[in-house]
Amino acid sequence: MERVFNFNPGPAVLPLEALKEAQAEFLNYKNTGMSILEISHRSKEAEGMLEETKKNLKELWGIPDNYKILFLQGGASSQFFMVPMNLAGDNVVDYVLTGTWSEKALEEANILKKKTNVVYSSQSTNYDRIPQPSELKFTKDAAYVHITTNNTIFGTQWHYLPETNGIPLVMDMSSDILSYPIDFKNVGLIYAGAQKNLGPAGVTVVIIREDLLARVPKDLPTMLKYTTHEKNNSLYNTPPVFAIYMVGLVLKWLKNIGGVKKMREINEKKAKLIYDAIDNSNGFYKGHAQKDSRSLMNITFTLENKDLEGKFDKEATALGLVGLKGHRSVGGMRASVYNAMPIEGCQKLAEFMNDFAKKNK
Ligand SMILES: *Cc1c(COP(=O)(O)O)cnc(C)c1O
Repeated sequence: MERVFNFNPGPAVLPLEALKEAQAEFLNYKNTGMSILEISHRSKEAEGMLEETKKNLKELWGIPDNYKILFLQGGASSQFFMVPMNLAGDNVVDYVLTGTWSEKALEEANILKKKTNVVYSSQSTNYDRIPQPSELKFTKDAAYVHITTNNTIFGTQWHYLPETNGIPLVMDMSSDILSYPIDFKNVGLIYAGAQKNLGPAGVTVVIIREDLLARVPKDLPTMLKYTTHEKNNSLYNTPPVFAIYMVGLVLKWLKNIGGVKKMREINEKKAKLIYDAIDNSNGFYKGHAQKDSRSLMNITFTLENKDLEGKFDKEATALGLVGLKGHRSVGGMRASVYNAMPIEGCQKLAEFMNDFAKKNK
């Protein structure tokens, strides 16, 4: 059986090199005579692996030294409540709504009865865009500003980071972490469930600026405090060792292909292949996102003739292009082309799209 091109939104494609490396050392990790799944999280091998993963993440993305990296569980969805619990205090918190995931993040802050303020929402146009800088007015003394950098479901992506003038920026980067270099100037906290751009499900990466740890209330449950995990080096309880290990292998692969800047160049080429197929189809395909807000990670489009969507998916699948069915909020198709999607997958999809349009016009 040959491997297919996996366009699923998450869990998603992983680099073949990383999978092969895991396979090669699966039964005997670094001469321990055990699998990495079996060794103690307090063994020197596991701790070494964890440290190296953090170090590589820092190096690859240029994360400044005053940020701490935590490996947590509970998915990005648990960060929707951990962020306000730990960082909001009694101050207003600003949310920019650009899709379902930002709505969910806001909802958790509301459940906690935080003073939430919606700075901007593109909900009225079914989240087809990211705001212009001029559309954003933040609360002066906000505890933080929350944005979702890539909207996995709607296929939009921020192509700049908003100037918050010192208000910590909290970013859900679950679906575009490490896909382009960023300036950490206003960044307070970044979180990402690993299963889209970083590794398998089971680990959530949190990158937090050191000074924000001082805000963490003493009376939170132990597991819900960032400080617990920071103090204990993500080893307060048993961390998801295998998932972190896989993240480490993905980082190694990313380093080998030339790092994050190189990755962005490749991602731009990959996405362009598919957007060109949409734009050159004379209306046969219609992109959901407005052009200046288009995501390089999740490409959403509908077919002019909705009745052909099932056929499109079926024929694509037969060619080994799987996972293209869109989310019900947009309908149509979605091609998720995360870091690990090879350019060959995008070429093959673009060819199929051109071909399918010609045959079914
Ligand atoms: C998938 C996704 C989530 C949810 O992640 P879980 O780890 O499943 O909780 C949150 N935010 C964004 C942007 C996502 O793409």
